[in-house]
Amino acid sequence: MTTTTHAIAAPSPGAALSPTTIERRDLRPDDVLIDIAYAGICHSDIHQVKEDWGSAIFPMVPGHEIAGVVAAVGSDVTKYQVGDRVGVGCMVDSCGECEYCLAGTEQFCLKGNIQTYNGVGFDGENTYGGYSRQIVVKDGFVCRIPEGIGLDVAAPLLCAGITTYSPLNRWGAGPGKKVAVVGLGGLGHMAVKIAVAMGADVTVLSQSLKKQEDGLKLGAKDYFATGDASTFQTLRGRFDLILNTVSATLPVDSYLGMLRVGGAMVNVGAPGEPLSYNAFSLLGGNKVLAGSMIGGIAETQEMLDFCAEHGIGAEIETISADQVNVAYDRVENSDVRYRFVIDAATIGA
Ligand code: NAP
Ligand code: ZN
Repeated sequence: MTTTTHAIAAPSPGAALSPTTIERRDLRPDDVLIDIAYAGICHSDIHQVKEDWGSAIFPMVPGHEIAGVVAAVGSDVTKYQVGDRVGVGCMVDSCGECEYCLAGTEQFCLKGNIQTYNGVGFDGENTYGGYSRQIVVKDGFVCRIPEGIGLDVAAPLLCAGITTYSPLNRWGAGPGKKVAVVGLGGLGHMAVKIAVAMGADVTVLSQSLKKQEDGLKLGAKDYFATGDASTFQTLRGRFDLILNTVSATLPVDSYLGMLRVGGAMVNVGAPGEPLSYNAFSLLGGNKVLAGSMIGGIAETQEMLDFCAEHGIGAEIETISADQVNVAYDRVENSDVRYRFVIDAATIGA
């Protein structure tokens, strides 16, 4: 027995998304049924629909920035009750037993974390994401959305929020640290807000000056256009940390040149094409080039609590289900300020 729910799906690689229905499993003892209120559109959704990262599973119901309200719980669930405000991010399961799961980094589960969509559960069933009315998720992969953050502006925190919070935290963004955020999109604008709240001195590096006013409003002290070659000279040796959120490849050496001695450039952007760099760009200055993938469930909860404490939500443009394809085009053209969020009530309405 399953429950039928409305959804928006890409029927095949690169195809436009269209309305459909999907089945959600009946509640297992440790499951939570969530009435989805909002689902953010992450650039990763577009990468996967377009198979930028390799072959994917279709039909695909994307969406891993989910905020909603608990509608029912399984018999063993004690952590959540009907009516609770909750969120689900990029993962819905993991083995729970390997060293990385035990360390709270379920994204690195040795059996592979089960992605919220474009994944296959341990039961062999395909997973379908947040562009739908309802979802069933194991309680351990559900986070609590604190009072004080609207569900609409909270949804993007479940991916864009944690993906930027985790490396900022790990690499010590805070008072006295100069942090550059590359790309002012969904992840980038969250990175600016979070790094500012952590007390860092933040600079936005965007392709153009078009979003300068916004960047400064978000709390950045400085804003430079990377389309202007002189930026790389002006900022030479400036930053302790560069967080790269760009969805395309970049001239990495030019960015490494803006790090101080011992500084780190952390990539969270995930272009389908390889990035390359000259070894001497790292050697000269003991520099670090690193990556970071989302964050574990406990850290996701920590991030949500941090955002509530600091009054941080995403800057969103709320859209209805029939606007998703237009929104995809706009994201690809860097024309998003700064996250599209789908009003789930419009799915199948
Ligand atoms: P987004 O909203 O499209 O933002 C990306 C930004 O990158 C754009 O707004 C643009 O900023 C800049 N950009 C785009 N094309 C560019 C180009 N050709 N050259 C230079 N800059 C360019 O995307 P997002 O949702 O924030 O996601 C960003 C990337 O992170 C994607 O690749 C996504 O898959 C990846 N991601 C990774 C993780 C992880 O765990 N590591 C998690 C989520 C997402 P400006 O206009 O300001 O230049
Ligand atoms: Zn994402």
